[in-house]
Amino acid sequence: MLRVTEIFRSIQGESTHAGRPCTFVRLTGCPMRCVWCDSEYTFTGGDHFSIDSIMAQVNAFGCKLVEVTGGEPLAQKEAFTLIERLCNDGFEVLVETGNYVSTEGLDPRAKVILDIKCPASAEEPRNHWPNLDRLRADRDEVKFVIADEADWNYAQRIIKDYDLEARANAVLISPVWGELDLEEVANWIASSGLNVRMQLQLHKYIWGPEARGV
Ligand code: SF4
Repeated sequence: MLRVTEIFRSIQGESTHAGRPCTFVRLTGCPMRCVWCDSEYTFTGGDHFSIDSIMAQVNAFGCKLVEVTGGEPLAQKEAFTLIERLCNDGFEVLVETGNYVSTEGLDPRAKVILDIKCPASAEEPRNHWPNLDRLRADRDEVKFVIADEADWNYAQRIIKDYDLEARANAVLISPVWGELDLEEVANWIASSGLNVRMQLQLHKYIWGPEARGV
């Protein structure tokens, strides 16, 4: 059984897959407490579903793309089995994970979006660095959520130190909603000389920052 906050169909709002129809499986619970977390409602509650029940709900939505997210989806061991089942059934599977839990043992067909925690999140010390060694350049993506210029400088250092431009399919720079001047962030990125992407959370522009299930 897995504890699930919500299963819904929407469009993907983040990553290089932004804009695509996608079914989201949002699992409950997270061992982290990022200062700017926008999904605190996943920390508690949720309903228990068997993997068969989750598969039936995902199939009913009819999207080829499925994202397993949270909370921290990999904090529930059975999430690894769910991801394998989704891959077996031919779904293109994205796994959004906060770089606290090891990605070892994850089905290699799934695409990882690894959310590296910057200092302003207050969770930077809990980054699990071996996860970066498991990145596959043809499919995995790395995301830095930045809340200030210090975070941007941190992201640049990690990108260079770990050669992430070569080791990931994309490096995403995602400003915390409402915290930064987007024009300024665009200028930082444009002048950085780095092959990274500025990422805005599309779903928040369409449905507003507080909307759930979108
Ligand atoms: S890892 Fe994700 S869900 Fe957990 S506290 Fe941080 S932003 Fe929120």
